[in-house]
Amino acid sequence: MYFSKLLAPTLRETPAEAEVISHQLLVRAGFIRKSSSGVYTYLPLAQKVIAKISSIIREELDKAGCQELMLPIIQPAELWLESGRWNVYGKELFRLQDRHERDFCLGPTHEEIITDLVRAEVTSYRDLPLNLYQIQNKYRDERRPRFGLMRGREFIMKDAYSFDKDEEGLAQTYQQMYDVYQRIFTRCGLMFRAVEADSGAIGGSITHEFMVIADAGEAEIVYCPECDYAANIEIASCQPSRFVSDDNPIPGNLEKIKTPGKTTIEMVSDFLSVAKQELIKTVFYQADDEVIVALVRGDRTLNEIKLKRLHPCVDLEMASAEKIKEITGSEPGYVGPIGLDRDSVKVYADNEVKMMINAICGANERNYHFINVQPEKDFSVTMYGDLRSVEEDEPCPHCGAALIKRRGIEVGQVFKLGTKYSTALNAKYVDENGQENLLHMGCYGIGVSRTMASAVEQNFDRDGIIWPVAIAPFQVVIVPIDINNDRMWEVAKNIYNELKESGIEVVLDDRGERAGVKFKDADLIGYPLRVTIGKKLIEDGLIEIKSRKEKNGITIKPEEITVYIQSKLGNM
Ligand SMILES: [Zn+2]
Repeated sequence: MYFSKLLAPTLRETPAEAEVISHQLLVRAGFIRKSSSGVYTYLPLAQKVIAKISSIIREELDKAGCQELMLPIIQPAELWLESGRWNVYGKELFRLQDRHERDFCLGPTHEEIITDLVRAEVTSYRDLPLNLYQIQNKYRDERRPRFGLMRGREFIMKDAYSFDKDEEGLAQTYQQMYDVYQRIFTRCGLMFRAVEADSGAIGGSITHEFMVIADAGEAEIVYCPECDYAANIEIASCQPSRFVSDDNPIPGNLEKIKTPGKTTIEMVSDFLSVAKQELIKTVFYQADDEVIVALVRGDRTLNEIKLKRLHPCVDLEMASAEKIKEITGSEPGYVGPIGLDRDSVKVYADNEVKMMINAICGANERNYHFINVQPEKDFSVTMYGDLRSVEEDEPCPHCGAALIKRRGIEVGQVFKLGTKYSTALNAKYVDENGQENLLHMGCYGIGVSRTMASAVEQNFDRDGIIWPVAIAPFQVVIVPIDINNDRMWEVAKNIYNELKESGIEVVLDDRGERAGVKFKDADLIGYPLRVTIGKKLIEDGLIEIKSRKEKNGITIKPEEITVYIQSKLGNM
């Protein structure tokens, strides 16, 4: 492709509304343009990336025996009423009526449509297992579309649905799809982790999310550098560890001391010259219409999702200062578990609190704290449990290596649906004994447009995108620094033709722009390799080749370039 013919309108300025890197760079590098809020046009460069990700997905799914089909985007309300989701899906469902005033929606997902198809067309155990997929636009009327392709209202998904005879068959299919996903994201050149997750709204019991590691991620995860353990911070279980400042602590007697104006963990630990680990953090929550108390060690982060598991409730929020005063007689900052009326307030404590000796907590009196608190003796607890969030460097529960804490962008998810939809839509098959049984289903999504955006979130620098080779729109750009120099232009054209003939995707920057402008665009668009034809050709008969990731390139003779590039691309 000659750059002058390519529709890749690059911009020097960052668009004002673009909050995240992928949105900024995909707009600036001429990959996408906004049509309306959360709806984008994919320009040729983006379409090439989408096609590459899609073809990796197709190859891996086809190899695993899945079959591609195409389901309608427009779905009749009747099916959604039958599954019970028409009325619960809410405003995110794009609804429309035809000229006969029949209700339809634009598909945000396709469980209903596919189950309807399979219940009509598949009747015998001989047809099972069956795994069907499609790559198609999906629609979700987000309240606040943002972050470019990360949370759009129209987006590209691969969705697959599996049908098995029984739970055992589903378990096998699920594992197979999990392995397929590992191969897909590895081939895309992304650093990712499969994380066990909560099943959320779609339902079903077991689910894994595939997370691309990137600072812009919406989820906090921990993962092990040595084994494949990874978990969402929200649910990652913690091992209690004991902190002792003294090798042989002797429990002292409870004592109230003056701590004027010291209302935070930091202030109290500074004031008393003790570690934060020696303090008990006391937090009052309003849990629906009840006030509860949660205790963790002073250096720990209280995990509200875990608290909700210990104390099931719908709404959980910090209690108001008035409410705290009403219960403790003190203002927040000096509160603690000692002396609370246990008939009216339930106290939940993290497992580590039980191990503390000579701890420090608020005295439920302005300007006072207790020292030498012995948790089991000086106050009672309704229930101990895992109430804190896991921290970086804690030992991996599988192998003991120090955990790494990062953010992740969810690009794929595998679900075991079981019989949720086959029950609702009465989808059955006849088994070997002539008995009717419900189909066991799984569903498996990959955000294709989101995968493109997260590849950018993971691979960029101040100059632009750094595409992984496997999904780069083009692999090589050739930059002759002066197209009016006959020798440079001729060598550039020869290399261009030679690379094209050997099947390498290459752009020749044939514009009459200054070299600096061409280099800036090349870095912004993010081609993995750049071949520069400049003064060195005239002086020494050499050209330069440089990878986008490296600062400096190497020089080479023009006739060696194709072999060099082939081997370089093979190793990237
Ligand atoms: Zn490990």
